[in-house]
Amino acid sequence: MQAEVITVGSELMLGVTLNTHSQFISRACVPIGVEVAYHTSVGDHADRLAEVIKVAHSRSQLVFLCGGLGPTLDDLTKETLADMLGETLVEDLQWRQRLERHFSKRNTPIPTNNYKQALVFSSGIVFPNEKGTAPGLSITKDGVIYILLPGPPGELKPMFEQQVLPFLHRILPSKEVIYSHPMSFLGIGESALEEELKDLIITSDNPILATYAMDIGVTLRITSHAESEDLAKQLIEPIRNEILSRVGKHCYSESEESLEELVIHHLRNNKQSVATAESCTGGLVVHLLTTVPGASEEVKGGFVSYSNKAKTDIVGVSTQVLKEFGAVSMKAAEQLAEQTRQRFQTDFAISVTGVAGPASSESKPVGLVYIGLAQIGMPTAVLELSLTGDRERIQKSAAKHALFFLLERLKKGETTI
Ligand code: AMP
Ligand code: MG
Repeated sequence: MQAEVITVGSELMLGVTLNTHSQFISRACVPIGVEVAYHTSVGDHADRLAEVIKVAHSRSQLVFLCGGLGPTLDDLTKETLADMLGETLVEDLQWRQRLERHFSKRNTPIPTNNYKQALVFSSGIVFPNEKGTAPGLSITKDGVIYILLPGPPGELKPMFEQQVLPFLHRILPSKEVIYSHPMSFLGIGESALEEELKDLIITSDNPILATYAMDIGVTLRITSHAESEDLAKQLIEPIRNEILSRVGKHCYSESEESLEELVIHHLRNNKQSVATAESCTGGLVVHLLTTVPGASEEVKGGFVSYSNKAKTDIVGVSTQVLKEFGAVSMKAAEQLAEQTRQRFQTDFAISVTGVAGPASSESKPVGLVYIGLAQIGMPTAVLELSLTGDRERIQKSAAKHALFFLLERLKKGETTI
């Protein structure tokens, strides 16, 4: 089934709002076998919107329209679509009552404009909006299914996941099972990953392979379709093994879990603990770890040892090491990790020291980062990285690499002696 996404809003045209909906919806369509063929953005302008809808109507079977469902005069999506299709809008009494309750709870009179949000297609479907006042809508005309969604991402995303996806599953012609296997990578860019897997990406259409650049790292999805989940999984297995044999050393996860969740869950399963000493990441590693609920059992604490004085006086790195090798050095990373592990009496300690930029330091290049990993009963390991990007990117990337370094150790099962 061919689909397209039309995003509506003058804020998109003015460059005030980044269009994230086209990406979100396209991503969600891959595993269900819906091919998104076009993305179009248009301002809050009835004539232009009508033009765009006309084209979509002539070439697609499924059209997502995002935005323009608000109460203000410039929100015109459903009115324009109704006009175009020759459909009428009627008041949905239930939704009107919901709107009234919504405003009375806030002790404010309902603005007259808001009543138009209770207007729905007389022969359509309503997706209740748990987070706002604009319901989502669907109408089918001449075999083209329209799905209208509210613009605010906090409303669109849950509505899409909880209501639109199950709706699509019900109406999609194929009753095949779609199975999608995620693989997350770090330390390899999206284009480098594609290059490594080019032949597989080009030749395979079931399963299909798609890469997505994340904020840091890349996710690859292997998506197959078959008569049953078992068969769909079987189709994925050989290609997954091939990918692992080529780029497995960069793959940190084959689930939807984040790096920090994986680290905490491994530590939890082994009843182990960790502490951190961070310089150039300024506490980002320990922050990421503590975003995982219940992490207080595994994370004992962390030093943000930014200055040399903090490294020596608080963590216990020797002044000799700093003098001889510098704060951004293998030796400093090693001592930071070892001292931290001892001070916190943990099973593991991770240290990060490097040059986040923009200026170089100790005449060391921007992006040079050392990550130390101390483990009770094991020699301390240090990883040297040459990261690229601006300061924020180097910090985020260093923090993720630190977690990956620890995760690999945890996975190897090199646990307490
Ligand atoms: P609406 O009132 O339905 O037009 O939605 C307006 C709100 O949704 C504004 O806060 C916009 O910044 C946001 N929004 C609209 N379209 C998009 C889009 N394509 N991507 C991200 N945010 C959007
Ligand atoms: Mg709008």
